[in-house]
Amino acid sequence: MENEKTFPCSHCRRLLPASEFYINHRTQQRDRYCKSCRQEINRRNRKRASIKRTDKFPQEEAHDIFKEEDKVRRLCLILGAKCVVRERIRRKRRKQAEDEFNSEDEL
Ligand SMILES: [Zn+2]
Repeated sequence: MENEKTFPCSHCRRLLPASEFYINHRTQQRDRYCKSCRQEINRRNRKRASIKRTDKFPQEEAHDIFKEEDKVRRLCLILGAKCVVRERIRRKRRKQAEDEFNSEDEL
Protein backbone atom coordinates (compact mmCIF):
# COMPACT_ATOMS: atom_id res chain seq x y z
CA MET A 1 0.00 0.00 0.00
CA GLU A 2 2.90 2.38 0.76
CA ASN A 3 4.33 2.28 -2.72
CA GLU A 4 0.94 2.55 -4.41
CA LYS A 5 1.32 4.34 -7.72
CA THR A 6 -0.15 7.83 -7.90
CA PHE A 7 -1.41 9.77 -10.88
CA PRO A 8 -1.80 13.51 -11.41
CA CYS A 9 -5.29 14.91 -11.87
CA SER A 10 -5.39 17.13 -14.98
CA HIS A 11 -7.67 19.54 -13.18
CA CYS A 12 -6.53 20.03 -9.58
CA ARG A 13 -2.97 18.76 -10.23
CA ARG A 14 -2.94 16.62 -7.07
CA LEU A 15 -1.16 13.28 -7.12
CA LEU A 16 -3.71 10.63 -6.20
CA PRO A 17 -3.92 6.82 -6.14
CA ALA A 18 -5.70 5.05 -9.00
CA SER A 19 -8.70 4.40 -6.71
CA GLU A 20 -9.38 8.16 -6.75
CA PHE A 21 -10.05 8.08 -10.50
CA TYR A 22 -13.02 6.69 -12.39
CA ILE A 23 -12.45 4.12 -15.10
CA ASN A 24 -14.05 4.64 -18.49
CA HIS A 25 -16.32 1.60 -18.95
CA ARG A 26 -15.90 1.52 -22.69
CA THR A 27 -12.15 1.97 -22.98
CA GLN A 28 -11.15 0.65 -19.53
CA GLN A 29 -8.86 3.63 -19.20
CA ARG A 30 -8.44 5.86 -16.19
CA ASP A 31 -10.13 9.24 -16.25
CA ARG A 32 -7.71 12.15 -16.42
CA TYR A 33 -9.66 13.98 -13.68
CA CYS A 34 -9.92 12.71 -10.11
CA LYS A 35 -13.34 11.68 -8.81
CA SER A 36 -14.09 14.94 -7.04
CA CYS A 37 -13.04 17.05 -10.03
CA ARG A 38 -15.00 14.81 -12.40
CA GLN A 39 -18.15 15.23 -10.30
CA GLU A 40 -17.68 18.97 -10.21
CA ILE A 41 -17.14 19.14 -13.97
CA ASN A 42 -20.15 16.93 -14.72
CA ARG A 43 -22.33 19.05 -12.49
CA ARG A 44 -21.21 22.19 -14.26
CA ASN A 45 -21.73 20.68 -17.72
CA ARG A 46 -25.21 19.51 -16.83
CA LYS A 47 -26.15 22.96 -15.60
CA ARG A 48 -24.86 24.62 -18.74
CA ALA A 49 -26.63 22.09 -20.97
CA SER A 50 -29.98 22.69 -19.31
CA ILE A 51 -29.68 26.47 -19.68
CA LYS A 52 -28.85 26.07 -23.37
CA ARG A 53 -31.78 23.74 -23.93
CA THR A 54 -34.37 26.13 -22.52
CA ASP A 55 -33.36 29.22 -24.49
CA LYS A 56 -32.78 27.38 -27.77
CA PHE A 57 -36.39 26.26 -28.15
CA PRO A 58 -38.54 29.38 -27.99
CA GLN A 59 -42.14 28.26 -27.67
CA GLU A 60 -43.76 31.20 -29.46
CA GLU A 61 -41.67 30.78 -32.56
CA ALA A 62 -42.98 27.26 -33.11
CA HIS A 63 -46.52 28.48 -32.46
CA ASP A 64 -46.39 31.18 -35.14
CA ILE A 65 -45.78 28.66 -37.89
CA PHE A 66 -49.20 27.11 -37.37
CA LYS A 67 -50.96 30.46 -37.12
CA GLU A 68 -49.64 31.45 -40.54
CA GLU A 69 -52.66 31.84 -42.92
CA ASP A 70 -50.85 31.48 -46.23
CA LYS A 71 -50.42 27.78 -47.04
CA VAL A 72 -47.25 28.15 -49.09
CA ARG A 73 -45.61 30.43 -46.58
CA ARG A 74 -46.53 28.05 -43.76
CA LEU A 75 -44.96 25.15 -45.64
CA CYS A 76 -41.80 27.21 -46.13
CA LEU A 77 -41.68 27.98 -42.42
CA ILE A 78 -42.18 24.34 -41.47
CA LEU A 79 -39.50 23.16 -43.85
CA GLY A 80 -37.19 25.86 -42.54
CA ALA A 81 -37.80 24.76 -38.96
CA LYS A 82 -37.10 21.14 -39.87
CA CYS A 83 -33.82 22.23 -41.39
CA VAL A 84 -32.87 24.12 -38.22
CA VAL A 85 -33.67 21.11 -36.05
CA ARG A 86 -31.61 18.79 -38.25
CA GLU A 87 -28.67 21.18 -38.10
CA ARG A 88 -28.97 21.35 -34.30
CA ILE A 89 -28.92 17.57 -33.97
CA ARG A 90 -25.93 17.32 -36.27
CA ARG A 91 -24.02 19.93 -34.28
CA LYS A 92 -24.90 18.22 -31.01
CA ARG A 93 -23.69 14.83 -32.27
CA ARG A 94 -20.41 16.33 -33.42
CA LYS A 95 -19.98 18.05 -30.07
CA GLN A 96 -20.60 14.79 -28.20
CA ALA A 97 -18.07 12.97 -30.36
CA GLU A 98 -15.50 15.66 -29.60
CA ASP A 99 -16.17 15.51 -25.88
CA GLU A 100 -15.73 11.76 -25.83
CA PHE A 101 -12.54 12.02 -27.79
CA ASN A 102 -11.16 14.63 -25.40
CA SER A 103 -11.96 12.69 -22.26
CA GLU A 104 -10.61 9.38 -23.54
CA ASP A 105 -7.43 10.69 -25.09
CA GLU A 106 -4.60 12.21 -23.01
CA LEU A 107 -3.70 9.85 -20.23
ZN1 LIG B 1 -8.72 16.65 -9.29
